[in-house]
Amino acid sequence: MENFSIAIDGPAGSGKSTVAKIISEKLGIIYVDTGAMYRAVALFCIRNGIETTDEVAVTAILPKIKIRIALENGLQKIFLEDEDVTGKIRTQEVGQGASDVGLILAVREKLVEIQRELAKGTSVIMDGRDIGTNVLTNARVKIYLNASVEERAKRRFGELESNGINADLDEVRKQIIFRDENDMSREHNPLKKADDAIEVDTTNMDIDEVVSEIIKTKEKKLLEARK
Ligand code: C5P
Repeated sequence: MENFSIAIDGPAGSGKSTVAKIISEKLGIIYVDTGAMYRAVALFCIRNGIETTDEVAVTAILPKIKIRIALENGLQKIFLEDEDVTGKIRTQEVGQGASDVGLILAVREKLVEIQRELAKGTSVIMDGRDIGTNVLTNARVKIYLNASVEERAKRRFGELESNGINADLDEVRKQIIFRDENDMSREHNPLKKADDAIEVDTTNMDIDEVVSEIIKTKEKKLLEARK
């Protein structure tokens, strides 16, 4: 079968990674979680006493950050050098740091290069903030997932709890609003719907509905391409 890519963008908590994982399994294609890469950069900075908002310091340390992606049972694992940090990047602090380092052009350029390399010559589903607008502009299917702030805060809260991380719903909501603002207003590749993306509002949808909506879109696009 020919290769194709599915780009999924949207704000924090819109359901991107949950649906992308399921779709990758259903279609037998690779899932690339680009947010994890921004989180890994943030974790490295935090551990090394570098302010994630300090553009000069983060840019200077960047060549030392060795990010590696591996697939285990079809799932993405992320490494800093040889250390598996897949679980360690899932904290609120690292999420905030990821949003900070995502403002820095040098960080974006480094990570986009890795992302494009991962998508070369294979079918992928990739989620993030700038996939349809920048990383994979030729993606066959582009989806912009959205949901209300309240719903997204509840989902993130549930996710943190189920990862054993104590959280406060008000705090999570505030962070979501702050991150939306950061992601949508930044200078380099801000979060926005690509002109040719299909917007799906997941506020009142369950995961299965979102998954089947995206798979239907993909089938339709592949059929159109063959005509
Ligand atoms: O998706 P996740 O919440 O893990 O992403 C963490 C942060 O990384 C986002 O808030 C965003 O600022 C940044 N990011 C980005 N571009 C991407 C993916 C994530 O700027 N493609």
